[in-house]
Amino acid sequence: MNILSGRFQKFIRNFTQLIDTAGGDESLLIPRGKVILSQLVAADDWLPDRYAQPHPQYYQQYLLHADPSDRFSVVSFVWGPGQKTPIHNHTVWGLIGMLRGGEHAENFCLGAEGRPMQACGAQQLRPGVVESVSPITGDIHRVSNLFEDRVSISIHVYGGNIGRVCRDVFDPQSGTRKPFVSGYSNEGEVCTTSAAPLRVL
Ligand code: FE
Repeated sequence: MNILSGRFQKFIRNFTQLIDTAGGDESLLIPRGKVILSQLVAADDWLPDRYAQPHPQYYQQYLLHADPSDRFSVVSFVWGPGQKTPIHNHTVWGLIGMLRGGEHAENFCLGAEGRPMQACGAQQLRPGVVESVSPITGDIHRVSNLFEDRVSISIHVYGGNIGRVCRDVFDPQSGTRKPFVSGYSNEGEVCTTSAAPLRVL
């Protein structure tokens, strides 16, 4: 991953230092992490083209950095025109920094078993904006490209090796969950020790 710029390397140094200090304390990690990620997405001149490539059918998740102890990972999320995720959770904290274009994020709450999922808030993210998700405050959402005619890109930081984390997608009508492991769109160049099975949505 050495084609990533000095700006990104500085971001990784700062974020590693934060994790060293804050450990798993989200009350420290999330506000301080937002400041560090804001500095990274304040300029859109550093992400190499290879990590900004959309796929005609599927949104892409390129691994940019994996902490050697799996304490955090950083990915670029690339949306082709009109692409969206299913409703999903994360099971770890996450920060979402908008780099290019825009996203529409809809939050959901689990209702009674077998009942439709409840929408509980939505945001539109524009370049430079940083949002967070957390299993403590709510981490179930559906995200879509705000645009039907252009690519959007956000940079995400997660409290684990997100492509290897076992999490869930949800059926909007019944709330029924189905486990999945996302993997990475650049699996070929990713080297990690985890042997979890992969299924890219
Ligand atoms: Fe998400």
